Amino acid sequence: MWNGVLPEKTQTWKDRMRSFVERELVPRESLLPPFASRLPFAELRDIVAGLRAEGLWGLAVPQALGGGGLGFVGLCALREALAHTTLWSLAPLLGTEPPILLYDCNAEQRERYLLPTIRGERQGCFALTERGAGSDAAAIQLRADPDGDGHYVLNGAKIFTSHADEADYALVFGVTPAHADHSAGITLFLVDHGTPGFEIVRQLDTMGGDRPSELRFENCRVPADRVLGEVGNAFTMAQRWFACDRVALQPPIAIGAATRCLMLARSAGVASDREIGPMSLQLDAAREMMYAAAWKADADLDIRHEASMVKATATTVALHVVDRVIQWFGPDGYGPNLPMERYYRDIRRFTIAAGTHEIQQFVVARGLLKGYAALDCVEGGVR
Ligand SMILES: Cc1cc2nc3c(=O)[nH]c(=O)nc-3n(C[C@H](O)[C@H](O)[C@H](O)COP(=O)(O)OP(=O)(O)OC[C@H]3O[C@@H](n4cnc5c(N)ncnc54)[C@H](O)[C@@H]3O)c2cc1C
Repeated sequence: MWNGVLPEKTQTWKDRMRSFVERELVPRESLLPPFASRLPFAELRDIVAGLRAEGLWGLAVPQALGGGGLGFVGLCALREALAHTTLWSLAPLLGTEPPILLYDCNAEQRERYLLPTIRGERQGCFALTERGAGSDAAAIQLRADPDGDGHYVLNGAKIFTSHADEADYALVFGVTPAHADHSAGITLFLVDHGTPGFEIVRQLDTMGGDRPSELRFENCRVPADRVLGEVGNAFTMAQRWFACDRVALQPPIAIGAATRCLMLARSAGVASDREIGPMSLQLDAAREMMYAAAWKADADLDIRHEASMVKATATTVALHVVDRVIQWFGPDGYGPNLPMERYYRDIRRFTIAAGTHEIQQFVVARGLLKGYAALDCVEGGVR
């Protein structure tokens, strides 16, 4: 069970990431225009080279795949440290987001997608949400029909796909019809950028500066060997990915960012101990909750229930803390010369992307009402 102390090796890597952030990333923060989420290419190339030289690349990827094997607890620790810069939003390019969905790749897909992605040579994007089918992801409509000639034909649209404009391939969820071998269900396809019939229609502006895309698929033929995992089984895979995102991708960023804001408030002397104390207490509670769930994930326990609790709690607490710190700094806190306003916009996104706040609460309530989880659950997986 999680004992509240990071393993020594993980703590060492977390400290190294913090030093790297202070030394290499914080000084570059002013290079990021207020409503952009990308640095000039030359800067990015230097940062990536530095991360690799420090051994900070791919640490949370399993050792069997050439990574550092730090697992979910390690992933939380690294990303918490990374969030001490507003440049955390470069994370998809910085080797701190393990491509977990691709762990289901077969041997050929492994060479073509998984390993190059781990090495940082190729990048994917996650295309699940459709208009009217985000919270209710099982309602997606994109059709993927076998053509009887070794291909599936994709027809439909996706929306809010992050990083689609710079990705080399998309992980596309589509509905496959019933077949002799399987019933109708949702299937995941690896679709290379540039495949005829696959088009980025437009990018959508957001308050965080990232610009997710709308995608269109029109008679887009994808070879059957680009099915990732089993036909009809992708919903389970998506749920596994969401559990990871909700514990180890969004919460550590929210918690790390809010912690930095609180530290800035303390060193600037803009708040009293009485004001800082309650914020720090709430942050610590969210942090402990996150690591406890990450520990369960590392122990291969089902964390769907905990994942929703962690995401909702960490985001709410972090938003509240950053909001308070903005207030303590007054007009300076509201402006772009301090990191709070960007963090606020970034964290606000977590109340929507990868499952809204309301949906997390719904999942928690459903788990309790259906008996998947108990109100006094302390350890173990789903009861
Ligand atoms: C910046 C950003 C990046 C994103 N990146 C990706 C990506 O890379 N890939 C991807 O596939 N998707 C992505 N998304 C999409 C995101 O996951 C969905 O928008 C989100 O899950 C909400 O789904 P929806 O759009 O259907 O909203 P809706 O379900 O229409 O939600 C609208 C409102 O209704 C509420 N609501 C809906 N159902 C219920 C209910 N049963 N009970 C109570 N309230 C409810 C919601 O909480 C919300 O407040 C991204 C979104 C954003 C904003």
